[in-house]
Amino acid sequence: MSQTLVLNATYEPLGVVSDRRALLLVLNNRAISVEDSDSVFHFTGGELAVPAIIRLTKFVRIPYRHAIPLTRRALFARDGGRCVYCSAPAASIDHVLPRSRGGGHHWENVVSACHRCNHVKADKTLKELGWKLRIVPREPVGAAWRILGSGRTEPKWLTYLEPYGGASLNAVAASA
Ligand SMILES: [Zn+2]
Repeated sequence: MSQTLVLNATYEPLGVVSDRRALLLVLNNRAISVEDSDSVFHFTGGELAVPAIIRLTKFVRIPYRHAIPLTRRALFARDGGRCVYCSAPAASIDHVLPRSRGGGHHWENVVSACHRCNHVKADKTLKELGWKLRIVPREPVGAAWRILGSGRTEPKWLTYLEPYGGASLNAVAASA
């Protein structure tokens, strides 16, 4: 069974549902298919393309925003898939202030790093090494990040996720 990306009436990404649930939403006129997948659903009396992306016909207000889970995938996306110290391809997670020195595991203290920089840095601080960050580590904002961090992302979804997650999503989805 594959999954379908759900967009709000405003095109803001909301989440992911099973393709069966997506079909039901379309059949009940609660959503329209924005892009179809390659699979077809057969039923008595006809067939219907299974949607890859649907958009709700009515705007849904989101009562509160969830925190974005700190996953390796989402972190690499935030940092453009590159080491924040030397711009080599990201391969590991680095704690800017090392955990052994009291640094926490949160968006403001973790960055993407290559193996080499991570190894050289070990439990030293940036000041001790004279290193600088290319980016200021912050928690990303937007539903696209939650979807990206939660698991598999269909290539077709990226066009709709990008405006809500930055241009780096494409690079990371391609390398994941
Ligand atoms: Zn590096």
